[in-house]
Amino acid sequence: MARLHLPLLRDPLVDGFARRIRYLRVSVTDRCNYRCSYCMPEELEDRMQFQPRSAVLTFEELERIVSVFAGLGVRKIRLTGGEPTVRQGIVELVRRIAAVPGIEQIVMTTNGHLLAELAAPLRAAGLAAVNVSVDTLDAARFRTITSRGDLARVLAGIDAAVAAGLSVKTNAVALAEYNGDEIVALCEDAWRRGAVPRFIEHMPMSGGAIYEQARGITAATIRRTLEAAVGPLVPDEPIGRDAGPARYWTVVAQPARRVGIISAMTEHFCDDCNRLRLTATGDLHACLGHDDATSLRQIVRSGGSDEDLVHAIDSTVTGKRAGHVFAEKPPSKHMIGIGG
Ligand code: SAM
Repeated sequence: MARLHLPLLRDPLVDGFARRIRYLRVSVTDRCNYRCSYCMPEELEDRMQFQPRSAVLTFEELERIVSVFAGLGVRKIRLTGGEPTVRQGIVELVRRIAAVPGIEQIVMTTNGHLLAELAAPLRAAGLAAVNVSVDTLDAARFRTITSRGDLARVLAGIDAAVAAGLSVKTNAVALAEYNGDEIVALCEDAWRRGAVPRFIEHMPMSGGAIYEQARGITAATIRRTLEAAVGPLVPDEPIGRDAGPARYWTVVAQPARRVGIISAMTEHFCDDCNRLRLTATGDLHACLGHDDATSLRQIVRSGGSDEDLVHAIDSTVTGKRAGHVFAEKPPSKHMIGIGG
């Protein structure tokens, strides 16, 4: 069975809406050491079926699948979860994926709990950047939101990541009762640490079970709140063709200060979507907001060839919808299983 090792063996992946796919988000585990109330609250645990280890893709399987994607023009890989740092051997996995020919950038989304220890080895293994979730700067609130979290550890993780030379962004899910009064403080803190703050509009996952529109803060409100404190913001040009979903804004009076907003609900960016998502068990999803998926694990474990993988990937890309329909029909999948 021939392996595809060359950077680009055929036409790149382009979907039915002329969107070029260059970015794959890979969940490496469905387990998480936190239980964030808007994502995976303790009470949702009964409805969540965590996968047995045998169902999760091995490093060899992941490396092979990523190689096939690289052959199709994917250049950026984001490792996510669950919590990616709880996957045993995560540093080795980063090293292996970073070495796949054609992969130009490997980055990670993490809750930061283990980052103080892992930042330097991850950087040495080839990781370029981390996005760290920090919803509040109040330690008691942080504990309430995450149920098991430790704010001091996460902030130490951010500092360690900056010191290790990783590019760092923070992620806060914008929810009135958690950080409505901390929009400016979260930005100031991230800027002070050498990170770029970002806010994510709350999205209805899990069939909408833990979503209330009224709790969310919109992108427009976030910008207004920030402008009242720091003066006008101007939109940035997207940086690079593999840019993620955030739109960035610069503080006019202090151009080194930027803020990102992921406005999936009120100012959606589906027209620019350049990514696919792979779950820890090898299900390939074309969209965060729809449940349909193709099992790449089945192909890999039944002796399928790389060409079989290419066909499955092609048909997933061909079926990629115009956009999410969060407002009408939230997906029943859980954020912890797909990784954001
Ligand atoms: N455990 C890692 C973390 O905390 O960053 C990676 C996985 S987590 C699912 C990825 C991102 O999704 C986090 O920034 C988290 O805050 C965000 N998130 C989780 N549930 C969300 C929801 N319903 N709407 C918007 N963002 C959500």
